[in-house]
Amino acid sequence: MAQRLIVIGGNAAGMAAASQARRRRDRSDLEIVAFERGHFTSYSSCGIPYWISGTVSGPEELVARDPETFRRRFDIDVRMRHEVVAIDLDRREVTARDLVRGGEVRERFDELVYAAGAVPLRPAWAQTDVEGVFGMQTLDDGAALRDWLESDPAPRRAVVVGGGYIGVEMAEALLLRGLSVTLVEQADQPMSTVDGDMAELVVEAMRDLGVHIRTGLSVSGLEERDGRVRGVVTGEGTIPTDVVVLGLGVRPNTDLAADAGLPLGPSGAVRVDRRMRVPDTPGVWAAGDCVECLHRVSGMPVHVPLGTHANKQGRVAGINIGGGYATFTGVIGTAVTKVCDLEVGRTGLRETDARAAGFDFVSVVAESTSRAGYYPGTRPMTVKLIAERPSGRLLGAQIVGWSEAAKRIDGLAVALWNGMTVDEMTALDLGYAPPYAPVWDPVLIAARKAVDALHDGAG
Ligand SMILES: Cc1cc2nc3c(=O)[nH]c(=O)nc-3n(C[C@H](O)[C@H](O)[C@H](O)COP(=O)(O)OP(=O)(O)OC[C@H]3O[C@@H](n4cnc5c(N)ncnc54)[C@H](O)[C@@H]3O)c2cc1C
Repeated sequence: MAQRLIVIGGNAAGMAAASQARRRRDRSDLEIVAFERGHFTSYSSCGIPYWISGTVSGPEELVARDPETFRRRFDIDVRMRHEVVAIDLDRREVTARDLVRGGEVRERFDELVYAAGAVPLRPAWAQTDVEGVFGMQTLDDGAALRDWLESDPAPRRAVVVGGGYIGVEMAEALLLRGLSVTLVEQADQPMSTVDGDMAELVVEAMRDLGVHIRTGLSVSGLEERDGRVRGVVTGEGTIPTDVVVLGLGVRPNTDLAADAGLPLGPSGAVRVDRRMRVPDTPGVWAAGDCVECLHRVSGMPVHVPLGTHANKQGRVAGINIGGGYATFTGVIGTAVTKVCDLEVGRTGLRETDARAAGFDFVSVVAESTSRAGYYPGTRPMTVKLIAERPSGRLLGAQIVGWSEAAKRIDGLAVALWNGMTVDEMTALDLGYAPPYAPVWDPVLIAARKAVDALHDGAG
């Protein structure tokens, strides 16, 4: 008799696992049932800000594979609009609620992949029926915001609450749609994924673009009229608005997992080993935004909810379920984003992380340009490196610049992944031609500066 794989969650991690398992085991060996409570499978949440801005079209274009494709090409029994409400590890079955017709189904499993993603944080003031308030997690959220922006009277003012990368990308999207945008951030600075000095460059650029940035400001409520949002209430008064977008971060979606007794780690996410197995729970796997993983530099378990990890982790789980051997060996926190033409890249530890992890380190900031100084279109680029003292091992890097900045972080990520020192990095054979870099690439200039700082005892 064929074994059964049940997958909970039909997006990046879940469907990567399901399709990889199918590539290795056919239906006579493994039946696969995937439950998804939403309307889409394998969709790109990452594309939502660019859909909102009108840069790309959607929502179909943001779907890599729809349910029908999974059914036809992969022989996967995809059950849309079905929410799994219980996992019984002893009976080895899940209970799922049919969100359209009502009623529940029970399905047994031999293997289970828990890939339920993350849940956006919503403080009490945001848990409201007031119209015009949007979280940004799924394509349905994107569609609801687009409808609102296209409604009559057309919203003219927007407030984005939360200045993480999603908040920043949404601020850009709304600006490009012609709205007057205010970004409210409780901390001293938005873009907390980079150090304060680098975030300051992003803030300056956003202000120049016309985004009103209010920092150190907590939102305590909403003002409404006729059921529609009219303002965001803060300690410094009410900011009038026609639409509110929440970008307050996420937490791992672990309620179901915890109820079933799956182990959670210190970050609050599901624990897994390198093969994406849930420890001490035979036949149960987890992947994506609901799990924690090893940070290869700090050595700490971390929850880093990114699509790049979800896809890789799902793939690893699927290969292993299929009888192959694959591992996910951790993250170093590489991420890129942009605000209009300003690009931001980061990898490894920020100064605060390095300090918290107990490293002695130097940090340097090097100003350079994206291309040869004489070449048309050259723009400023700032590279920050953090290196362990006295070894010189690279611990972290951040780049902010107007062109060719974001993907330059990948070279630094490879150096960091491989434990290179800044001294070794000064000799890296990086490509040079005037349209792409100055003769000393900004990364090499920063590495040289870090070497000097190590020798001077400065930084
Ligand atoms: C606006 C935005 C922009 C982003 N930009 C980037 C980016 O540029 N780069 C990057 O790397 N990452 C980005 N991300 C993050 C990325 O989208 C996520 O890390 C990725 O989608 C995680 O995939 P996942 O499969 O683990 O979880 P999810 O995408 O959250 O999918 C989980 C699925 O499980 C379903 N589900 C949950 N519980 C149940 C249940 N009980 N029963 C049935 N179904 C259930 C949900 O409906 C959901 O479809 C962005 C996210 C957002 C919201």
